[in-house]
Amino acid sequence: MINRLNIENFLEEIKNIVDLELLLKPSDQKRFSKDFFDYSPILREELAECCADLVVKPLSVHAVLSVAFICQKHQVPLTIRGAGTGNYGQCVPIKGGVVMIMTSLTKIRNFDPDTCAVTVEAGCLLGELNKYLLANGRQLRLLPSTWRTASIAGFVAGGSGGIGSVRWGFLRDPGHLLGLEVVTLEESPRKIQLDARSAEALNHAYGTNGIITALTLSTCEAVDWHEVAIDCDDFFEAIEIFQSCMKAAVDLFLCSFLENKIVECLPSWSGNFRGKHRLLLLVAPDGVSTLERISKRNGVDFCHLGPEDKQGGNGFRELSWNHTTLHMRSMDPKWTYLQLLLPQPEANAINLINRKWGDNILWHFEAVRQQGSQRMAALPLVQWEGRKNLEMLMSDFKNVGAILFNPHVITVEDGGLGVIDSDQVQAKREYDPKGILNPGKLKGWS
Ligand SMILES: Cc1cc2nc3c(=O)[nH]c(=O)nc-3n(C[C@H](O)[C@H](O)[C@H](O)COP(=O)(O)OP(=O)(O)OC[C@H]3O[C@@H](n4cnc5c(N)ncnc54)[C@H](O)[C@@H]3O)c2cc1C
Repeated sequence: MINRLNIENFLEEIKNIVDLELLLKPSDQKRFSKDFFDYSPILREELAECCADLVVKPLSVHAVLSVAFICQKHQVPLTIRGAGTGNYGQCVPIKGGVVMIMTSLTKIRNFDPDTCAVTVEAGCLLGELNKYLLANGRQLRLLPSTWRTASIAGFVAGGSGGIGSVRWGFLRDPGHLLGLEVVTLEESPRKIQLDARSAEALNHAYGTNGIITALTLSTCEAVDWHEVAIDCDDFFEAIEIFQSCMKAAVDLFLCSFLENKIVECLPSWSGNFRGKHRLLLLVAPDGVSTLERISKRNGVDFCHLGPEDKQGGNGFRELSWNHTTLHMRSMDPKWTYLQLLLPQPEANAINLINRKWGDNILWHFEAVRQQGSQRMAALPLVQWEGRKNLEMLMSDFKNVGAILFNPHVITVEDGGLGVIDSDQVQAKREYDPKGILNPGKLKGWS
């Protein structure tokens, strides 16, 4: 919270910043203190009362520097916000203070014709950036299913992977993030350039150790992705086909598995429901016939829908990753979810969990490249029956050998592998020595 004795001085200084919009309505303070944490009933309760004292929107990097200077001078907490689509309350100001919205910094500064790397300002929406790249024969390698609305810095600071992960792994894999421009929270805030190595510590750090003002990212060749759906009666046969597809020599951008009870709840534009489990694939044109051959070999339904239509917001991208959870929650808000990797081969763990939890769990898998190998990431839907039940389920998953990435917690570490990353903490020590940025989210610092 802003110290009430200093608030007048603080506000006076903030108001004098050139290129800074102030959002002073109480409704704005509430609105910009929330993200999509209500997917977790636990976070919904824990974060309900968190609210910013002030919301600002810089229109230039210079204004970002000025806000940083004033916040550190008055020791006022500062939480950075992109589009606010995170699921774990990443941009919720749990200690109040200032929320700074970055979505007016949208310039695409450079496209290197030799390396095809792009340098872009923090608040540029992924959809806009991708449109620009497509015009240059390139595209983003990784996109969240919120790609139309989310910002590029929000994705790097708060996301992990998504569409494209089947081919390109996760954002923290070396090679995606090539450099950052960052504003620090030192006594005299600076704008600094970080190379790929130094930028790693700010990747997926929830904006706790530096304000990202621009990013340099690698891109990949643009492909005219085609949508293919494969429907299958038998659950484990569908998983086998899913695995054959993800391991085949075809260029995939998305490979999702949805249990039949999920398919039943999807919006009508997602296709007819025939009681079957469904695979959703985005594949390069020359891979369509191979997917057809795999389907025919197994005697299951194959449907080639043609090139994806990216205009309407009702393509396979919007049925995948956490959009699956979104659609299920719109049918019944008692659905929540988990994120995990099952031990391989997965069938044993699936059977053990099904035996105990039955219809309280519905299976959703995404094909990913994890540390160089193809495997299935699980995002199971879970019926909310209270905190104790969820903890019991998570413990059952751990007992069958699963690795959990808990989406019901607020710190960087608890949502990951539970270990403190000393580079992230060291970067905070260096760039935010007074702990002004997004307090409470980096456990290693707290
Ligand atoms: C339906 C749904 C589907 C989703 N699917 C995916 C998915 O497929 N993959 C995935 O990874 N995520 C997914 N998400 C989560 C989220 O949408 C993405 O991670 C998204 O990229 C976040 O971007 P944003 O601009 O909304 O960031 P915000 O939510 O605004 O911010 C995220 C974090 O980044 C920090 N941050 C933002 N801007 C900056 C900056 N300039 N400098 C420093 N820190 C900054 C914030 O402080 C916060 O900690 C999904 C969410 C929903 C609701």
